[in-house]
Amino acid sequence: MSGALAFSALTVGYGGEPVLHEVAFALAPGEVVALLGANGAGKTTLLRALAGFVPVRERMITLDGRDLMRLRPEDRARLGIGQVPEGRSVVAELTVDENLRLGTLWRHRGRERERAVAEVYDLFEPLARRRTSDGHQLSGGERQMLALGRALVSRPRVLTLDEPSLGLAPLVVAQLMATVRDTAARDGMTVLLAEQNVTSALSIADRGVVLNLGRVVADAPAADLSADTALRHAYLGF
Ligand code: ATP
Repeated sequence: MSGALAFSALTVGYGGEPVLHEVAFALAPGEVVALLGANGAGKTTLLRALAGFVPVRERMITLDGRDLMRLRPEDRARLGIGQVPEGRSVVAELTVDENLRLGTLWRHRGRERERAVAEVYDLFEPLARRRTSDGHQLSGGERQMLALGRALVSRPRVLTLDEPSLGLAPLVVAQLMATVRDTAARDGMTVLLAEQNVTSALSIADRGVVLNLGRVVADAPAADLSADTALRHAYLGF
């Protein structure tokens, strides 16, 4: 199930100056990596390049050695690249249950689909209670649970999350983070977690990669980054 993901000399721009400069790092199968850095460092751009929404030159992102660059976003999703984009995007007019089933469309059929949905309800009790509520009736925390649940029902090999903690209560953040960590440990899911909430991200990460102005300035075990006062002050704002 798990995927080894590698970025090699990834340079990305939106037409003008590059936003990412020769970014290189790899994730082992089942590893949880926090992608850290200030506003504008390039975290979202890196996740969008992986998903296939930003054009990149060839052979710079591989999954288990396979070049992803020729694949369209939907083919990358089929291969097992799941994402929880910034902004808790759920379909407001659909119910919780319908939103979750959207995530199963191309990965499962029949019984497997029901099992995947039931697992998400086991993980997130509030979603189980609100399965017939429309998306727009949910709280911010419930919407983020649903966005994460919809990614998890497809059983991704690699899951990316973009600022999942933004604007959420600390208890909800802790629950979301614990779910990500436990799912990674149980299923061998590889996780790339972009966060401004450095403490939360490092609390569940094996490793952290710090971006500054589109360049990797640190790549180290989470405990080492937490203990590095100079680096924290320089790039992580605490
Ligand atoms: P944030 O935490 O604010 O989301 P980030 O680390 O995710 O920051 P990005 O959103 O990747 O950073 O932005 C990196 C740089 O790329 C910024 O200078 C930004 O202005 C620029 N940028 C992002 N999206 C686009 C776009 N669609 N067109 C042009 N420039 C963009």
